[in-house]
Amino acid sequence: MTRRLDPAQRLRRTAKEVFGYDALRPGQLAAMESVLDRRDTMVVMPTGSGKSAIYQVPALLLDGPTVVVSPLIALQRDQVAFLVEQDAAGGAVSANSSKRRVEQEAAFEALRAGEVEFFFLAPEQLAKPEVLADLAEAKPSLFVVDEAHCVSSWGHDFRPDYLRLGSVIEALGHPTVLALTATASPPVRDEVVSELRLRDPKVVVHGFDRPNLFLSVEAFRDDDQKREAVVMRAMGERKPGIVYTATRRSAESYAEAIAELGMNAAAYHAGMRAADRNAVQSGFMVGSLDVVVATTAFGMGIDKADVRFVLHADVADSVDSYYQEVGRAGRDGELAEAVLFYRPEDLGLRRFFASGAPDPEALQRVATLVGLHGEPVDPAALAEEAGVSETRLIGLVNLLAKAGTVEVDFDGCVRMHPDAPSPEQAAAAASDVAESYRRVEQSRVDMMRGYAETLGCRRQYLLAYFGETLADPCGNCDTCRGGTASGQPAAEDSPYAVNSRVVHTAWGEGLVMRYEGDRIVVLFDEVGYKTLSLEAVMARQLLAPVA
Ligand code: ADP
Ligand code: ZN
Repeated sequence: MTRRLDPAQRLRRTAKEVFGYDALRPGQLAAMESVLDRRDTMVVMPTGSGKSAIYQVPALLLDGPTVVVSPLIALQRDQVAFLVEQDAAGGAVSANSSKRRVEQEAAFEALRAGEVEFFFLAPEQLAKPEVLADLAEAKPSLFVVDEAHCVSSWGHDFRPDYLRLGSVIEALGHPTVLALTATASPPVRDEVVSELRLRDPKVVVHGFDRPNLFLSVEAFRDDDQKREAVVMRAMGERKPGIVYTATRRSAESYAEAIAELGMNAAAYHAGMRAADRNAVQSGFMVGSLDVVVATTAFGMGIDKADVRFVLHADVADSVDSYYQEVGRAGRDGELAEAVLFYRPEDLGLRRFFASGAPDPEALQRVATLVGLHGEPVDPAALAEEAGVSETRLIGLVNLLAKAGTVEVDFDGCVRMHPDAPSPEQAAAAASDVAESYRRVEQSRVDMMRGYAETLGCRRQYLLAYFGETLADPCGNCDTCRGGTASGQPAAEDSPYAVNSRVVHTAWGEGLVMRYEGDRIVVLFDEVGYKTLSLEAVMARQLLAPVA
């Protein structure tokens, strides 16, 4: 008699039998169950936590092939090689543009013939109608979007090619969609959900806690004092370590100051020659350099387990970057220090980088042109007609699309939305969208300030930001040690707990940061920091806890 296995058991068994995994990691199982249940799913887990298995395992239990869209060809190659190695995995091919034509055709042939389970391709390939037709014919049951944060137009990794994925998914009859990413703060997450048109998605956020990192902030008013403190700290801590700065110039001057004290220190930034950069990187890897002082360019490819400290001489431009950068410390699980040297004025520097407003005339021109065409128009042609660069055009089209005025087809062509307003109104609506982006960008800076200024547990703050909850203060950060995390006003004086989510009648949801006398400071997701009189809040019932 065969016993019927429940979904979790079937997933575990496949993971073990096909991939040799004795257990599923936390987060993996919940996400796999959701996929197996054919529910759209978004997974936010750090690099190396095993996101690929989340589609690989359930794919084998679902009828129909799995399409994986991934922007990085090297990554596709690794995945295909890995899957081909697992005999029972049902075969994998990639059809990316680095392949010769015959190889690509063979890949599509295998897909049409139902010979492969996993089919990898790059987003730009979906621009070709024949590719889409082949995919539709293969009736995929699962559509995986790797590096899903690339659909977010104000993120650092925005890829215009990702914008067509929503249409592609619809054109394929909306198979179950699985979006994977290692970095997605709440606004980016919302954008992934709306751009990919996920239906009632299950969102799984897991694995961001790094309990061995001691988190702390040192606040300064004076730049020289801050400098001095950074240098002394770099000297005093166990090595090796990384110091991050906002500019190339300060990377160099810090490296010099640290080297003057007798340490092996070097600068690393994008303005250096590639050979010099490589020398610094390998010096750090082999241990001949104690300290690297770098702009954010450093660390992308670095996987050194025993980094003992990451000091930020300047605030990062967002909590996302900050956490990614401090995440390079203590990968061996041993204690490591993550120290932010904070000067409120430094936030202004970051704000300076935030983008400017789009030109309403250009928006209106593009909307008018698309309307005149009457049929889908190629973005290159549109750019020429509108007299703007193609990159700029994509930005404008994206805003118009977000405002519901135009649509981007799977082949990248732009057409009018059926109920588009007049070009004038379209431009106004698109400008509003841009304005809300600007606010979000501003709120990212505010979020960084929130981390630096919170009196609550810093780890709870960071994890809350990423959407993961930590029930109790961590005990391994400066506010926990110093007692402020638990030493906020007595419960009867603080109707809303520090670090809890609240919703305001006008400003929407936010995070309670701290109390200042008879006032409460809340960091709202949309409008940023607000300091409110507790008396007014209570009298007019302005805030309610979020369940
Ligand atoms: P990510 O995409 O999140 O960066 P990967 O999917 O590349 O991570 O997985 C990282 C490594 O972990 C891979 O070598 C993979 O084989 C391995 N792995 C994934 N899940 C498990 C598991 N449950 N048990 C053991 N190893 C696993
Ligand atoms: Zn703490």
